[in-house]
Amino acid sequence: MLDQVQQMEFSVSDQAGKLYIVATPIGNLEDISARALAVLREVDLIAAEDTRHSKRLLSHYAITTPLRSYHDFNERQAAQALMKSLRAGLQVALISDAGTPLINDPGYHLVCAAHEHGIRVVPVPGPCAAIAALSAAGLPTDRFVFEGYAPEKQAARAARFKELAQEPRTLVFYEAPHRIRGFLADAEAAFGARRQATLARELTKRFETIRRDELGALHAAVTEEASWSKGEYVVIVHGAEARREEGEEEAQRVLTILLQELPLKQAAKLAAGITGRKKNELYELGLKLSGKSES
Ligand code: SAM
Repeated sequence: MLDQVQQMEFSVSDQAGKLYIVATPIGNLEDISARALAVLREVDLIAAEDTRHSKRLLSHYAITTPLRSYHDFNERQAAQALMKSLRAGLQVALISDAGTPLINDPGYHLVCAAHEHGIRVVPVPGPCAAIAALSAAGLPTDRFVFEGYAPEKQAARAARFKELAQEPRTLVFYEAPHRIRGFLADAEAAFGARRQATLARELTKRFETIRRDELGALHAAVTEEASWSKGEYVVIVHGAEARREEGEEEAQRVLTILLQELPLKQAAKLAAGITGRKKNELYELGLKLSGKSES
């Protein structure tokens, strides 16, 4: 099978090389694909974010392909040098320290340059912390927004969360352990303590922990339990639509109780005061509940 993959992917006689964007494990070394290993073995050089870090993975699989450094601080220069190699016909693979390159990792300049110069860019898909977390989070995955890292400074982070508070799609964040408490404090303030969220920590590693709960409870747990201050995080937050549904359920519950004792107009007014929802919306809901609505 490996031979087939290689035959399909490598036409070394091509004038220009190809740029392979290769996903590597986010923890568990066994998560690398057979195709990724074949590509890393066969290319002429591997551009890596941190060559020392990548050597561990490559030596685990006895891969001896030469490494070149490609990171945030030399991205433009390194991209130029790699473009020269590609145009000269060398096959190049790009990897990052973990997961999929370009997903909060370097590679953007190189991929853009490759497109500009007509170099074929070939994705070799595999692990990605955001996707792994989403797959296990127990929150809606049909529509989601990848936010990467929230701003480090508290005021900027709170402002970003405020902008996102009404976003109906599931929100996906990356976070570092030393910022997780501050992150959750601001998330609770902006999205509400009752909003469902999932903490996905140390995915595919020994201390993998996935916990889904309300933001208020997650914030409390992370504040109280010391173990949460270690590891790498993906935080997934339920979109705002569900909150609205939860609010609707609560409004319906309150209105149903009030309607047992009060006329509709008064019940709607009181329910609006209790739930913070609009009086006319509750009046309409009351009509439906009492079977007086046409719809
Ligand atoms: N390119 C990577 C990917 O495809 O997921 C992401 C790189 S980004 C620089 C690193 C961040 O990804 C970490 O700070 C953490 O938020 C998240 N991450 C990476 N590995 C993880 C893991 N095993 N468990 C949870 N989060 C992880």
